[in-house]
Amino acid sequence: MATFLFHQTVYGPIHSRRLGSSLGVNLLPENNKWCNYNCIYCECGWNPSGKGLQRSLPSREQIRRDLEEALKQLGREGRCPDVITFAGNGEPTLHPQFAEIIEDTIALRDLYCTGTKVSVLTNATELHRPEVIKALKRVDQNILKLDSGIAETLHRMNQPQKSISPKALAEQFRIFGGTEIIQTMFLKGDAGNGYIDNTTPEELDAWEALVADVRPSMVMIYTIDRDTPAANLEKISPEAMEHIADRIRKHGIPVQVSA
Ligand code: SF4
Repeated sequence: MATFLFHQTVYGPIHSRRLGSSLGVNLLPENNKWCNYNCIYCECGWNPSGKGLQRSLPSREQIRRDLEEALKQLGREGRCPDVITFAGNGEPTLHPQFAEIIEDTIALRDLYCTGTKVSVLTNATELHRPEVIKALKRVDQNILKLDSGIAETLHRMNQPQKSISPKALAEQFRIFGGTEIIQTMFLKGDAGNGYIDNTTPEELDAWEALVADVRPSMVMIYTIDRDTPAANLEKISPEAMEHIADRIRKHGIPVQVSA
């Protein structure tokens, strides 16, 4: 199916279902994806494979230059975005200068668009690195992926390079002291590695238990909106998404639904 890559380091502003007007920052290669997950629903497609694959990352200087140009112009035109979002062609925290780039971004935001938030969408697998934690603690919104409370499902949905325990992953979220946002994709279908449905009662019990225990500032739940690399994945109905949201709202945690 038709997935897509971002061919710039700084793109937009685009309208995001979840974040509003968003100026995107892509710290990953401009011509292929780089991620330590390989989610069956990733809008950037499957991870590329093959020996000798070139991974040319944008430099800190290039990001700073491109971001300054965009923010300066948007500020001058009175069109500052709601948020600067680190997402793009993979996992942003894999960039070796992620911490320095966050430092530059906050300085540029403070200079040109003071009301704009800085947000990072991350799969949270790099939270063992102190410099990544330190940088993430400086941004306004950390949006952390947690697609299932059951390890087998998480592995089939996200296909991580290393084995992941959902409980251990969620435990790490506590370093943000409840300021973090948890983001979960709900879907059904057979991606070629067995039928997946992370909306069954057993799945929702396990996921709810982890979320209620961590108590994030918000939960964002969403379902498929665009083409996915795995064929045969199904959207979850808006009614079912609202039922899932209610399970979390009853714990006093706000939920944003994109269905
Ligand atoms: S973590 Fe994000 S970028 Fe990585 S494979 Fe999953 S959806 Fe794609």
